[in-house]
Amino acid sequence: MILHSHSLIMERTLVIIKPGAIKRDLIGEIIHRFERKGLQLCGIKMMKLNDEILDEHYEHLKGKPFFQRIKDSMMKTPVVVCCWKSVDCVRIVHDMAGCTNGRQAAMGTIRGDYSVSVQENIVHTSDTVENANIEIARFFREEEIFEFNQLSPTVLYAEDEF
Ligand code: ADP
Repeated sequence: MILHSHSLIMERTLVIIKPGAIKRDLIGEIIHRFERKGLQLCGIKMMKLNDEILDEHYEHLKGKPFFQRIKDSMMKTPVVVCCWKSVDCVRIVHDMAGCTNGRQAAMGTIRGDYSVSVQENIVHTSDTVENANIEIARFFREEEIFEFNQLSPTVLYAEDEF
C-alpha cells in the first residue's frame, strides 16, 4: 500500500463557532461532530472578539463591501474557539465545515446542514496548515493548548498511520 506522507502528519486546526451558531444553540451539536469523527480537543474557550483581532483574522477580506458587516456579525455574541488535533486535521475539519456558502455546501457538512447563508455560515475553520498555526496562536495562549493522550492512537489509526 502506498501512503502519502502529507496525510500522516499530526496537525492542529482552529474552529470558531460563530455567533449565528451560538444564538441557535448549536455549540454542542458542532463539537459532537468533531468528537465523533475521532478528533482530539486540545483547547476550548468562549471569548468576545473585538475589531482588532477581527481586522487581523479577516485581513484577506479588507476592501470587500461586506468586511465591516462580517466583523459586526462576529461581535454579536461571544464565540467559542476550539483547537482540534488529528492526522490531516486541517483538511478534515475544513471539509466537515463545507464550502463558504451555506446554500451551496454539501448536505452532511456543518454549513450544508445548518446554514442558508454566505455570511451566517456557522463556523470558521482554518484552510491551510500554515494558517491553522497562525490562527491557533491568534486565539489561544500557549498554556491554553493541552497535550495529552485521550486514547491510545491504535484505537483511531493503524500502526503505520501515526
Ligand atoms: P471561509 O470562511 O469559507 O474560509 P472567506 O475566508 O472567504 O471564507 O470569508 C470569511 C467569512 O466572511 C465567511 O465565512 C463568511 O462568513 C463571510 N463572507 C465571505 N464571503 C462573503 C460574501 N460574499 N458576503 C457576505 N459574507 C461573506
